[in-house]
Amino acid sequence: MQNRPKQNDEIRTTCPYCGVGCGVLARKKTDNSIVVRGDPEHPANFGRLCSKGSALGETTGYEGRLLTPSIYGERTDWDTALDLVASKFSEAIAEYGPESVAIYAAGQILTEDYYVANKWMKGFVGASNIDTNSRLCMASSVAGHRRAFGTDTVPGIYEDLEKADLITLVGSNLAWCHPVLYQRIAAAKQARPEMKVVLIDPRRTMTADICDLYLPIEPNGDVALFNGLLDHLSLHDGLNADYIEQHTSGFSDALTSAIDGSSPSKVAELTGLTQSELATFYDLFLTTEKAVTIYSQGVNQSCVGTDKVNSIINCHLATGRIGREGMGPFSVTGQPNAMGGREVGGLANLLASHMELEREDHRALVSEFWSAPNLTKKPGLKAVDLFKAVREGNIKALWIMSTNPVVSMPEADKVAEAIQACPFVVVSEVQAKTDTSQYGHVLLPAADWGEKDGTVTNSERRISRQRPFREPMGESKPDWWHICEVARRMGFADAFQYETTAEIFAEYAALSAYGNAGDRDFDIGALAGIEKPAYDALEPFQWPRKVGAEPSQTRFFANGGFYTADRKGRFVAVHSEAPSDRTDARPMLLNTGRLRDQWHTMTRTGKSPRLAQHIAEPFVEINPKDALVLGIREAELVSVRSDHGDVLLRALITHRVKKGQVFAPFHWNEQYASNARVDTLVRAVTDPFSGQPASKSTAVSVHFARMQ
Ligand code: SF4
Repeated sequence: MQNRPKQNDEIRTTCPYCGVGCGVLARKKTDNSIVVRGDPEHPANFGRLCSKGSALGETTGYEGRLLTPSIYGERTDWDTALDLVASKFSEAIAEYGPESVAIYAAGQILTEDYYVANKWMKGFVGASNIDTNSRLCMASSVAGHRRAFGTDTVPGIYEDLEKADLITLVGSNLAWCHPVLYQRIAAAKQARPEMKVVLIDPRRTMTADICDLYLPIEPNGDVALFNGLLDHLSLHDGLNADYIEQHTSGFSDALTSAIDGSSPSKVAELTGLTQSELATFYDLFLTTEKAVTIYSQGVNQSCVGTDKVNSIINCHLATGRIGREGMGPFSVTGQPNAMGGREVGGLANLLASHMELEREDHRALVSEFWSAPNLTKKPGLKAVDLFKAVREGNIKALWIMSTNPVVSMPEADKVAEAIQACPFVVVSEVQAKTDTSQYGHVLLPAADWGEKDGTVTNSERRISRQRPFREPMGESKPDWWHICEVARRMGFADAFQYETTAEIFAEYAALSAYGNAGDRDFDIGALAGIEKPAYDALEPFQWPRKVGAEPSQTRFFANGGFYTADRKGRFVAVHSEAPSDRTDARPMLLNTGRLRDQWHTMTRTGKSPRLAQHIAEPFVEINPKDALVLGIREAELVSVRSDHGDVLLRALITHRVKKGQVFAPFHWNEQYASNARVDTLVRAVTDPFSGQPASKSTAVSVHFARMQ
């Protein structure tokens, strides 16, 4: 069944959940229900789907959909709603300036949505206050890539995971968060038992099941671990001197910094690992040429996240193990289109088509290409700062698109208060009721997966089409249309005349070609001016897409050619010590994360009874020693408290977490569980380079809850 070719009544599309970007074949039955299966020809999954992907058909019904626009809770028509949005944004800009308005969007919207939202805000409003929940997901990887490579470029491809002889997973529960990639690695390991897999994670997750070595590292011990590895490589003839000499800069500073914090006893202290465990891992890396290091939120979601990324990349640059078959550092993105958003500049510190907001020549190019009168000149507010600005009254009009920050942002209660106090809030949503939409003055119904048309880019730079297979429900419209209609009403009609997403994509590709002018090869400029039939027929492909060439799988940087000024990859000197969050009053560290069968704040996956069967209610994992001291028994309700809030969760007593640490999934919203929004606890502290919140190490205390 899995490999049965596509049937005529099936539409080829892409899963809207994680960054693996699996191909899906979807079919609408005569009773309007949807049946899905994995696309056997899609190079990300070759027919596989995980539990979330295979339940897509159960989550796309009428139930709970937002079907019409509304203003202050009253149903209205599109013209009235859009007129009000345009006038309120225009008034705020006129009275308080362009930086008084903001968009907060999501890694779920499509590249075409992102492109027009970014164009409107940065080119025509004249500010950069557009950020997204991708900031919570992979911003530290973006910052780390840019420091090391000069651009945000992922060197490798998925096939490398099958070709590697050593896969090291750092802060990544691939088994639950990127299940199809995990399946690909598990299958490769079964075929080649000599392949070694190492898991480095404070929590022993299901991913450990296929691992040869599990290292229960202390939270934020990663820089010390990889600095120690760099030192070990230098001491044991493990460096690739030719590669370092010809293709990199900054090695000696990075090594000096590594050595400073890398005595074996110091590394053992900072990582919480024994010297024997460290030596085993270091020797594996030293002796295995084909090594891939996968990292995810355990690396990114930290106050030292960018340094963690660079500490990993340093080891790959030092060995020349980058961009070659079965080798390289590999950041896997959490969301389906976090990568596509990055490509079109959908973050507050990016421009578009990989051009730099800080560079005057790039700003001039984009301004000219868009005929944009007010092109922004400086970065805008990143997610955490954006909501702080809302709370401080500096944002007068806020547009929240396809995301639920009242559940997912750190210090979520304060975010709720901020949104509630904002003078004008627009929420574009698929669902009628979310924790955030209750605060929207204007609600705009958004088309859902299966109704929208566009592209997404997965973690290996592969662009795939999301194709519609049914009409939008009610009066819902795609997000790009919402933005264009508001832009037209604000006097920017000429620049937002799109009729189809093909036109938007063609313009984005043309901007890539225009901006890059042939001197960089990571664009999709070859598709400039693509017509709708060709766009509709696009097969999944990776960028770079060369003019006239067949799509191919491409790795970067094996032979140098980085995108820095001197074309060399940059080592970054990073320091091993990381601040500790624990206090006497809050002696435990809260780690947050995902479950196998839920997605983000459950607005979609919560609709599937089958998915709810996996884990039905919110919980907190507690080590048995802590439970004993606290007098907590299995399945009792406990109150978990931080300096920012408290939540009520079911105790799950397990050795998966170490003493002094607790883990709780962040999915539950108020619709599915009262007082269980775990991100209310998380401290809104961020990495200084990426602005990504440190969602995995908040100091908390745990208390027996009297109410059962
Ligand atoms: Fe969807 Fe990710 Fe599962 Fe693939 S692995 S089916 S993209 S959720």
